[in-house]
Amino acid sequence: MPIEMPKGLPFSVDTWTPSSSKRHHFLTHAHKDHSSSIASHSFFPIYSTRLTKTLILQQYPQLDASLFLDVEVGQSFIVDDPAGAFTVTAFDANHCPGAVMFLFEGKFGNILHTGDCRLTPECLLNLPDKYVGRKGKEPRCPLDCVFLDCTFGNFSQEMPSKHSAIQQVINCIWKHPDAPTVYLTCNMLGQEEILVNVSQTFGAKIYVDKAKYAEFFTNLALIVPEILCEDPASRFHLFDGSRRLYERAEAKLMEAKATLQSEPLIVRPSAQWYACEEKFSDVENTRKKRMDEAVKDQFGVWHVCYSMHSSKEELELALQLLAPRWVVSTTPSCRAMELDYVKKHCFNSKGALNKSMWKLLDMTLETSDEFGTLVKSVSCNPVLEETLQSFSSDARQEFFKDPEDAEVKLSSPERKNELHQVETYQQSEVLEDTRVHKSASYLNNGSSGLSASVRKLYRSMNVPVPKPLPSLVDLMNSHKRTKRGINY
Ligand SMILES: [Zn+2]
Repeated sequence: MPIEMPKGLPFSVDTWTPSSSKRHHFLTHAHKDHSSSIASHSFFPIYSTRLTKTLILQQYPQLDASLFLDVEVGQSFIVDDPAGAFTVTAFDANHCPGAVMFLFEGKFGNILHTGDCRLTPECLLNLPDKYVGRKGKEPRCPLDCVFLDCTFGNFSQEMPSKHSAIQQVINCIWKHPDAPTVYLTCNMLGQEEILVNVSQTFGAKIYVDKAKYAEFFTNLALIVPEILCEDPASRFHLFDGSRRLYERAEAKLMEAKATLQSEPLIVRPSAQWYACEEKFSDVENTRKKRMDEAVKDQFGVWHVCYSMHSSKEELELALQLLAPRWVVSTTPSCRAMELDYVKKHCFNSKGALNKSMWKLLDMTLETSDEFGTLVKSVSCNPVLEETLQSFSSDARQEFFKDPEDAEVKLSSPERKNELHQVETYQQSEVLEDTRVHKSASYLNNGSSGLSASVRKLYRSMNVPVPKPLPSLVDLMNSHKRTKRGINY
């Protein structure tokens, strides 16, 4: 899930908004949630791999290919910018065809944006040596910030590797030799690797209904044309894994029963069933613990935990190896603070708030009207925690000693207001769910300006107290004055 980059950075990653004032645009991969609005809000230049560009142009034929600049995996290039040139390198994200992570190195610091990724240790080894720790040693040059795909950051079970999951799909098919048809719910970019392996192992092509799966058919025709066929007599069929899957699966099974035929096999290689805890019985939830072989659910669908995103365990390991100073989750469903590494290391790290981090604080401020969200963000906010530790004891007493206290001490309206002001600044650092947070000026709480406590906080850290933005009324008044000046 893309988030806006801090205002202090000259580039955007996977965001296409009318208000974007970024000078350089990066696209990590061709999944729809990372390219939505690209057709209506695209700006030159868009950096992506050639394959991602081709896939995107297939999805959005109205886009002009000249907007794109190709990047090669592993090759660094320099981007000229009025604020200072910076270097960019793309690395394989182990996610879907054409997907990359971007490493940005410039005056703003060293930043890794993972896009969507399956961040295994092997994947990390592609990064420059200096950024990756070895054998318990910290890296020579820790990254300043990692914008991290935390899609399954709350998923604490160990996930099989993609390779192992594919093997489980194949084993499942071997165990059902009587199934006349095998339905594979692999209609998402990134799952074609499963189709390729099934096709190679069983020496058969995969039937893809061109009318039903027009876009995915075009993708497959580009990436792996050799496994495609349009003959419904093939044993292997592509099956839609999303809308009303269970209903459709049951219908297929009932149909076989009614015609006294052997049951078809329906395999769903996805982590969704494993990650979703609702709507299922305890028995089913216990079944989900099995990660080493396909598991059949109550509807007759066989599941294999094939994931294009990292589990919590994998993310924790990656962060230990990278030892970044800061982590920002790009997926609001899991906040960076929920990761043990961030709790342990970003809170107390002396280097966490270094110069480049303060530069990053120069960004569009985001806040939420929802108080519940606010409290959660504060108690999960590493910047605030660090800030409070650096705070003079007097000032600190005005807030609270422990983030856990936040919810208790936030009872009075004044406290809410004060905390809201600090949080308003810090929220932008964490940049959680930008979709639900409304943009707010520094003076979101009214026109009273920054409180004494907040100003004190900034001074205690030797950081200039930012000037509040003028209110809309001030702006309109000054506009009127200017107009009068011109007219008279
Ligand atoms: Zn993706």
